[in-house]
Amino acid sequence: MYDYLIVGAGLFGAVFAYEATKRGKKCLVIDKREHIGGNVYTEEVDGIHVHKYGAHIFHTNNQEIWEYINQFASFNRYTNSPVANYKGEIYNLPFNMNTFNKLWGVTTPTEAKQKIEEQRRKAHITKPRNLEEQAISLVGIDIYEKLIKGYTEKQWGRPAEQLPAFIIKRLPVRFTYDNNYFNDRFQGIPIGGYTQIIDKMLADSNIKLQVDYFQDKETWDKQAKKVVYTGMIDQFFDYKFGTLQYRSLTFETSLLDDTDNYQGNAVVNYTDKETPYTRIIEHKHFEHGTQDKTIITKEYPAEWKPGDEPYYPINDTTNNTMYKQYKALAAQEENVIFGGRLATYQYYDMHQVIGSALVAVQKEFD
Ligand code: FAD
Repeated sequence: MYDYLIVGAGLFGAVFAYEATKRGKKCLVIDKREHIGGNVYTEEVDGIHVHKYGAHIFHTNNQEIWEYINQFASFNRYTNSPVANYKGEIYNLPFNMNTFNKLWGVTTPTEAKQKIEEQRRKAHITKPRNLEEQAISLVGIDIYEKLIKGYTEKQWGRPAEQLPAFIIKRLPVRFTYDNNYFNDRFQGIPIGGYTQIIDKMLADSNIKLQVDYFQDKETWDKQAKKVVYTGMIDQFFDYKFGTLQYRSLTFETSLLDDTDNYQGNAVVNYTDKETPYTRIIEHKHFEHGTQDKTIITKEYPAEWKPGDEPYYPINDTTNNTMYKQYKALAAQEENVIFGGRLATYQYYDMHQVIGSALVAVQKEFD
C-alpha cells in the first residue's frame, strides 16, 4: 500500500513526491504521457535541450524558491529578451526605450512618454469596451497595431474588438533601454535541461507512465491511502457542471542541419496577423549552444476541444463560476489533494507551482 498516489508527473506532482518521500512516505506516480515532467519536459537532441511544450524560462523573486530549485540543477545566466518581428521589422520586447526609438526615432524617456501620451489622448477612450480599446488606451495606436493586435488575435483566435478588455489588465512599458523581459531577481535555464530536475525529484518514487488514471480509477485509488491529483478538475468530477474551456497550442519542431544560427535569439514573436504562428523558439540560444546545427519550434495557437492538450485556461466569468463549483466539491474530498495548473484551473509559472506544492506539503505534514 502506498501512502500517496500522485496523478501527474509534472512539477507539482514531482515536488510533492520529493517532499513526501523525504519524510519516509511511499509514493506511486502515474502519468498518461510517455515521459515525466509534464509541460516542463525537455528532450536532448544532438546536445540541444528541446523545450517540447514551448519556451520555459525559470524566473522568480522569491529567494527560497530559487534556492529550492537550485538543489536539483545549476542554472545558466540566460536572460529572456525576446524580439518581435512585424513584417520583417524587428523590435525589442518588452516595450522599452529600444522599441520606442525604433518606432518613432525618439531617444529620451521624456520624448517617448510624450509620444505615448499624445497617442493615448488622440484615441479618446475613457471606458474601454474591448481588448482593442483597452490596449490603445494604455499604449496608443502604433504599439497596438504593430506589436499587440496581430499577436493577440492569433493567440485567441478572434478579432481584438471581440475580445474582452480584461485579458489585458496592464501593459508593461519601460522607459529605460532594458530588454530583460522579467523584473524578477532570479532567472535562468537549468544547465542540462528541466527533465533531470524532475528525475531527481522522483528518484525515490515508483513511476508508471502512459497510464490514464480515469481508465481504471478504482484500481488506482485502492493502491494508496491518499491521492494527489494534478489533472483537469472538471474531468475528476465527470464534467458534472460542464466543461472548462482552454486555449491550445501545436508545436512544429525542425532540426536544421545546414545552419548553426537560424534567428540569433531564443524567442522571436511574430506580431503580424498573416504569419500563422505566434513565435519561433530556437532552443540552443537558451543555453548559449555552440553546436554546428540548430533546432527550431514554431508555436501555433489552436482552438481547444475535449481531448486536446489544455494549455491556457480561459478565465472568463462563465469558466471561473464553473470552476468555483468544482472547487467546492474538491473541498469535500478528504483523501484527495488537488494541485497544479489543471486542478486549480489557473495559469501558473513554474515558481508559482513549486510555491503552491510546498504549501500543500506544509498543510499535509506540518
Ligand atoms: P503539468 O506540467 O501539466 O503536469 C500535469 C501532468 O498530469 C501532465 O504530465 C499530465 O499528462 C498528467 N495528467 C493529467 N491528467 C492525467 C490523467 N487523467 N492520468 C494520468 N496523468 C494525467 N512557466 C514559467 O515559469 N516560465 C515559462 O517560461 C513558462 N512558459 C510556458 C510556456 C507554455 C507554452 C506553457 C503552456 C506553460 C509555460 N509555463 C512557464 C508554465 C509551466 O509549464 C507550468 O507552470 C508547469 O508545467 C505546471 O506544472 P503542473 O504540474 O501544474 O502541470
